Amino acid sequence: MNAVLKEPMDETLEAISNAPISLTANNITRHFPVGGGLLRGKLGAGKSVKAVDGVSFKIRRGETFSLVGESGCGKSTLARLVAGLDAPSSGNIAFADAGQREHRIQMIFQDPYASLNPRYRIGTAIAEPIRFQKLLPEAQVMPRVHELLRQVGLAAADAQKFPHEFSGGQRQRVSIARALAGNPSFLVCDEPTSALDVSVQAQILNLLRRLQEQLGLTCLFISHNLAVINYVSHDVGVMYLGRLAEVAPTRVLFEAPKHPYTQLLLAALPQLDTRGRDKSPITGEIPSPLAPPSGCTFHPRCPHANDRCKAEKPELQAQPDGSQVACHAVQERRIPVLFHTS
Ligand code: SF4
Repeated sequence: MNAVLKEPMDETLEAISNAPISLTANNITRHFPVGGGLLRGKLGAGKSVKAVDGVSFKIRRGETFSLVGESGCGKSTLARLVAGLDAPSSGNIAFADAGQREHRIQMIFQDPYASLNPRYRIGTAIAEPIRFQKLLPEAQVMPRVHELLRQVGLAAADAQKFPHEFSGGQRQRVSIARALAGNPSFLVCDEPTSALDVSVQAQILNLLRRLQEQLGLTCLFISHNLAVINYVSHDVGVMYLGRLAEVAPTRVLFEAPKHPYTQLLLAALPQLDTRGRDKSPITGEIPSPLAPPSGCTFHPRCPHANDRCKAEKPELQAQPDGSQVACHAVQERRIPVLFHTS
């Protein structure tokens, strides 16, 4: 991980979280049945959309694993499955200490305003998980709320304010304080900075990284912005139409991308602005998940596709530099592959 940029903040963070945990996601699928009406007529009864289609990955304790991909690739569905907000159709997600899962995973969303009740003072909102889980005696709840506010760069007096009195970046700080209030070991961050102004994004990313390192949190981070992914991640999974195209340590992925989709995403990186507007040069539309292409689902957009690609779905295969790639051309050495050497 890169060095954390310094922010002016005097507070010394104490280790408030539980011991860090690791995660293993094993062949996860999440299929949504297709509804009635036109779609049913077009696709036939009993069809389903494979939002997540056989995904496996591991996150080591205290590290950040990021999922990147265009909208509709399944990364947010996967985030909800890991956070326990939805259940997989098949496969399993195992935590090192699954027994306390409900109390140990917290999620930070893209829109902090939507996750805060506008009628509650934010002190009440931050106190809610502490009271709900009975983590502290009542007399210690508000002191803890004040401590959390200071940890995220706000003032204890801000506990009296309502959400509309804060800027977007401050509201995201409140959301982070609220997530930490539940003493999590595992954070799921779903596009936590993409709704924020460019100038505020770096502050929030720095805050998340600092908290993650100091509290030893394990994180699943979701973004479509490769610059953000590069900054926060230990490992990265590139998703395309519900499947992982490539998984690699961050430096390996950015210095030696192997899957044609990863290569095209990275080719667009200098053109990506920090608001994450996708100016990808990848040709063609993302195919509809309702009717995904046969074989490798990237084949209609891939410059290296051949007949095997149209017929046979590639599986992730381990590479000598620690990455895993799902691509026939990489396996067959039909395209030049750069291996990362440290
Ligand atoms: Fe392209 Fe074929 Fe590799 Fe898919 S399997 S990414 S179509 S070369």
